[in-house]
Amino acid sequence: MNVGTKTDNKHERIALFPGSFDPFTIGHQSLVKRGLELADRIIIAIGINEGKQCCFPVERRLEEIRALYRGEERIEVVTYQTLTTDIAKQLGAHFILRGIRSIIDFEYEKTIADINRELTGIETIFLLAEPQYAHISSSVVRELLHFGKDITGFLPKGMQL
Ligand code: ADP
Repeated sequence: MNVGTKTDNKHERIALFPGSFDPFTIGHQSLVKRGLELADRIIIAIGINEGKQCCFPVERRLEEIRALYRGEERIEVVTYQTLTTDIAKQLGAHFILRGIRSIIDFEYEKTIADINRELTGIETIFLLAEPQYAHISSSVVRELLHFGKDITGFLPKGMQL
């Protein structure tokens, strides 16, 4: 795990935003921006899942997301290899932040959120995707890249993977 070293403040509301971020898109960026209205701090946690086939090396994703939020005191970026609830607990997160783009996301997210609540009592707060980003997913971006298409329009400004 690669965690930062920020000092704890007991009164802060900390959100954990877990995901693969393979790659981090403007859809994710929109969620982080809106999440900052709900939390004092957001920890973006890149899950490393050996079983899941990834495209961009995790170190690269970590580097690029950190660079995107450099200078933003309220955002931290880490990687983790445990259960999401374990890292949430370890980092003192008060809730998990996730996005919902469609009914398909809802079905998937609901199961995980219910299990996480049952395991540890941690709640998941969902933000509906902004309509202009609702069609954007990391998997579609990877597919486009695979066929040689330009993906820069789907990535936050300045991000190069
Ligand atoms: P995972 O592999 O864990 O599903 P992702 O990196 O694909 O992680 O997504 C992380 C979170 O961001 C998920 O809750 C997903 O629904 C949300 N998300 C992804 N793309 C968008 C988008 N375009 N708008 C809003 N939320 C999104």
